[in-house]
Amino acid sequence: MALSTTLSQMSIALPTGIDGSSRSMIKVQSMSFTEKSWSPLLKLDSKPRSLTVKTRSTICMSLQQASRTKVAVTPLELEDPKETPLNLYRPKEPYTATIVSVERIVGPQAPGETCHIVIDHDGNVPYWEGQSYGVIPPGENPKKPGAPHNVRLYSIASTRYGDSFDGKTASLCVRRAIYYDPETGKEDPSKAGVCSNFLCNAKPGDKVKITGPSGKVMLLPEDDPKATHIMIATGTGVAPYRGYLRRMFMENVPNFKFDGLAWLFLGVANSDSLLYDEEFAGYLKDYPENFKYDKALSREEKNKKGGKMYVQDKIEEYSDEIFKLLDNGAHIYFCGLKGMMPGIQDTLKRVAEERGESWEQKLTQLRKNKQWHVEVY
Ligand code: FAD
Repeated sequence: MALSTTLSQMSIALPTGIDGSSRSMIKVQSMSFTEKSWSPLLKLDSKPRSLTVKTRSTICMSLQQASRTKVAVTPLELEDPKETPLNLYRPKEPYTATIVSVERIVGPQAPGETCHIVIDHDGNVPYWEGQSYGVIPPGENPKKPGAPHNVRLYSIASTRYGDSFDGKTASLCVRRAIYYDPETGKEDPSKAGVCSNFLCNAKPGDKVKITGPSGKVMLLPEDDPKATHIMIATGTGVAPYRGYLRRMFMENVPNFKFDGLAWLFLGVANSDSLLYDEEFAGYLKDYPENFKYDKALSREEKNKKGGKMYVQDKIEEYSDEIFKLLDNGAHIYFCGLKGMMPGIQDTLKRVAEERGESWEQKLTQLRKNKQWHVEVY
């Protein structure tokens, strides 16, 4: 299905200088885009008009990127605080936000479903790239009758300006947790994940209780705009990196002019499971010297031993380069399912030993230098 739409008015900053540093503003009256042939979970046309425009503008921005323009963001006061925003809302007094859109972002052959969810916090729950929101799903906690459900954490997949570039929304990348009976192999809806299903089933206008923002481990260090950032993700672990990359390559942020190297390794089951692939492919085209993107498709590709291609196999393939970058101060990030870490650590250890280095010492040093960032769940 090819979608096309018209945006009423959007501000875009166009580079005027050779380095793109000096920019002028133009107003774009209309713009069209096409989407993948698979249908979104919610039909965009069924959404209230104001909400629809926000979602569509997000997708349009990958076209902006194709012409190396950067998007103007507001309010720039979001750059000001010296302290990271933390726990502005706690489980006892959560903030009630509104769902803007829910969109299935994987193709039909993907095992499972992942949704991109935009939440309107009206600027009241500011956050920085790499932080998480807590979500309290509606209903009663089965383990504590009368009490609300426990908070579930979700990495924020947008920059502090949100997908609408106005600082009023946050986006989440949520995989629907489904339970299959191990004996019959059949789905058992009574054991489906509470919060992920609430979020993936939500409709524009629905209310959602959020807490946070939380987390400091995955904050993007911005002191050196020429730094190297090696980002390793499985599945929805790509969420924080989408935020980093939009800040690096999509947004015109006056105090962060990224000119280093961002290298994304993304592991998913197959090509239909790739997340934000078009957005990332746009950066690759426009910033080939600043962005590298390697995918590991476990059910489609084979590693050099003939087994499934996992993200650690890609790391091994580029281990020499990765180790050199780490020796030169690169940051390395890991985000996604807990199960990803043992395989990755084993690979890194093996590579270190082949190079005649002690992995334990290297890891200690990386941690000490604050180069090592892990958030797995
Ligand atoms: P729950 O209701 O908590 O159930 C958990 C699991 O148990 C489900 O798989 C469910 O099917 C199964 N289950 C339920 N009942 C039974 C039963 N009786 N017997 C056996 N199994 C059962 N997730 C994302 O999708 N995206 C993110 O970006 C993300 N970021 C995170 C960041 C952090 C820092 C952390 C800690 C977690 C993150 N998560 C993320 C995971 C998320 O917080 C939730 O854990 C996840 O969505 C599942 O929550 P749920 O309420 O849907 O499932």
